[in-house]
Amino acid sequence: METNELKQIIFNKIKEYNNIIIVRHIRPDGDCVGATLGLKYILQESFPNKKIKVYANDYADYLEFLGSEDKDETPEAYVDALIIALDVSVSDRISNSYFKTGKEIIKIDHHIETDPYGDINWVDDTRASCCEMIVELYDTFKNELVLPLNAAQALYTGIVTDSGRFKFSSVKGDTLRYAALLIDRGVDIERISANLYLKEFNVYKLQGEMLKKAKITKNGVVYIYVTEDIQKKYNLSLNDASSMISIIESIKGSIIWLAFIDNPDKTIRVRLRSRFMTVNQIAEKYHGGGHDRASGATVYSKEEMKRLIKDADKEIKKYKESHNDWLWEY
Ligand code: AMP
Repeated sequence: METNELKQIIFNKIKEYNNIIIVRHIRPDGDCVGATLGLKYILQESFPNKKIKVYANDYADYLEFLGSEDKDETPEAYVDALIIALDVSVSDRISNSYFKTGKEIIKIDHHIETDPYGDINWVDDTRASCCEMIVELYDTFKNELVLPLNAAQALYTGIVTDSGRFKFSSVKGDTLRYAALLIDRGVDIERISANLYLKEFNVYKLQGEMLKKAKITKNGVVYIYVTEDIQKKYNLSLNDASSMISIIESIKGSIIWLAFIDNPDKTIRVRLRSRFMTVNQIAEKYHGGGHDRASGATVYSKEEMKRLIKDADKEIKKYKESHNDWLWEY
């Protein structure tokens, strides 16, 4: 179906329902929190008589500057509700216990499609962020919608975080055009950056220690392992521990980088990142998925961790056999 037709169907549904529940993925990031709160603020301002909520089971403290999500309700709240799921590719990653009991589900997402769980699915994996799609929805129907400043700030946050501050290959002209629309609305870029990127001093100390421990494989997979011990030593939140992926992203000679993070349930979270080549195929092999150059997975033992690193190394080898570039001459 044509995008314009899909957007019209989605907008008609929004107008039809008086009870709208917006949901997102577990382990929230800037894009899913920005998209859900951004859409909520737009709809609340545009349709003051409708009940519009964002219900989730887990939260990210560092994104609280965007506003609070609502406390999850009883199953009755869902019976006559339109569910809008944002930025979540597979239904078992939705951070909500009751969404399946809603009357209809709309999925709006920018991950590679593997599970079209919505009654209506607007999925476009060429988009740098889900927030970009929400801004497009607003822009298409702006004669009937209001964009309050708090919505613009939330949506800008998602665009800036999921595009790696506008440096990933997923960034297109539209990414910047929609960001510009939000800046024109008055978002405070300096304040958003301060909220997102200032870190506690101990996190920088940890970065030093992690960089010392980082390893590189023969073909250029850089990886770190943020163990439970290190997390305890530096009193890290899981989010701080996970953010360590960013310290190994700009190493010459490396086109795949990985962070392994011990989860409290003894599983190991894997964050996979790459430039020039894809990593989602590796993530999919290890209980995960995501985008072509930014994916997540889970491993259940050190042996599985080693296998994943080996697979990533083989993928680079394969890639290098058919490509030439100065970036891995080191
Ligand atoms: P992360 O490193 O966890 O931030 O993941 C990178 C991207 O992949 C994010 O957009 C996640 O939503 C997505 N992702 C992470 N884990 C999974 C998974 N198990 N299945 C599908 N997508 C995932």
